[in-house]
Amino acid sequence: MSKEYSIETKCIQSGWKPKNGEPRVLPIYQSTTFKYDSSDQMGRLFDLEEEGYFYSRLSNPTNDYVAAKICDLEGGIGAMLTSSGQAANYFAVFNICEAGSHVIMSSSVYGGTFNLLTVTMEKMGIECSIIDPDAPVEELNALFRENTRCVMAETIANPALVVLDIEKFATAAHGHGVPLIVDNTFATPINCRPFEFGADIVTHSTTKYMEGHASTIGGVIVDSGNFDWMAHADKFPGLCTPDESYHGIVYAERFGKLGYIQKATAQLMRDLGSIQSPQNAFLLNLGLESLHLRVPRHCENAQKVAEYLEQNEKIAWVNYPGLKSNKYYALAQKYMPNGTCGVISFGLKAGRAATSDFMDKLQLAAIVTHVADARTCVLHPASHTHRQMSDEQLVEAGVAPDLIRFSVGIENVNDIIADLEQALATVK
Ligand SMILES: *Cc1c(COP(=O)(O)O)cnc(C)c1O
Repeated sequence: MSKEYSIETKCIQSGWKPKNGEPRVLPIYQSTTFKYDSSDQMGRLFDLEEEGYFYSRLSNPTNDYVAAKICDLEGGIGAMLTSSGQAANYFAVFNICEAGSHVIMSSSVYGGTFNLLTVTMEKMGIECSIIDPDAPVEELNALFRENTRCVMAETIANPALVVLDIEKFATAAHGHGVPLIVDNTFATPINCRPFEFGADIVTHSTTKYMEGHASTIGGVIVDSGNFDWMAHADKFPGLCTPDESYHGIVYAERFGKLGYIQKATAQLMRDLGSIQSPQNAFLLNLGLESLHLRVPRHCENAQKVAEYLEQNEKIAWVNYPGLKSNKYYALAQKYMPNGTCGVISFGLKAGRAATSDFMDKLQLAAIVTHVADARTCVLHPASHTHRQMSDEQLVEAGVAPDLIRFSVGIENVNDIIADLEQALATVK
């Protein structure tokens, strides 16, 4: 809808648009199934000849209204909610890959995505090459093979906070006839819309800023509609040749630009499940209604916290792409001039040994696994998510042993800084 509305208005108004007498607020269609008057019509739905709902493992109206809102925010043409961000990234890649395919992925992606592609999907026969996102374009180009099917990266990497040169990656992918998939979880469409820079598919863990309150796990895949599958039909047989499990439908022919999302729904959701529950989609929608207010506040608070930490004598280093001193400041200014995200990482001069004690002293910032929600939270990857690794392995994985991941919430920033100050005062 409404390309003419600004993004703030879309956060509120896109998606569910009630007709006369219908509920003002998006209803939760808490139903596994949908009733039809004629057996024939049900048959046509199964053949995808008619649009409609029949079973909530594949699709559900509540989900689709919320997906439509996110689609509008990203500027795409089709979207699908998934049960988690992991499911979103899995489906986004697997929808165009099969055993024998090859994928190129940024080395700084979220650990869950790294495991998914390099361990689990490798077992399925899909190979993955890793590229340093800052590598010269020649190095990136050299990784493409005849069986490469997509390139995958994150707008702002979690937790490395590497800002992606989206245009560099999109140009390389398109030069080799494959799409660029970008996980836009940390930037959100409020700060960056990767389609505007050439990305073809966007994914999110809606668990983070989109839902925003740490109440529900979820994911989404959005298609820009810009990638011409039929022009590279030899690479994408799943989209461009008949699907025998669907009476010989050719998704890219029958549904044109919507073929990618239609296939993900009709085939992957049907066979693999992993749909978001309509209850969770309802909560996600409530979160989206304030996304345009929360994200700028997260960024404003994070900027002040990063500046405070940068001048503090007990801090060894601070990584935040909003700092002028940051390696990614220029890229961030280009791709997300209004702000990056609320997540900061830093290390203490006292080193790894002092980190746990420091974190235990924090009162407002809670120690949790989560990031990117309304409440300020903190994690030490070397002691938590990556605790099985040695210091050497941590460095190889791009996670400094002393790295503290600090997710700045939307509380009053003076309280967040005061909390850091009192905890830092205890560090020798
Ligand atoms: C959290 C996260 C994921 C995984 O999402 P879940 O909703 O936890 O499954 C994927 N990508 C990024 C960038 C994330 O931060």
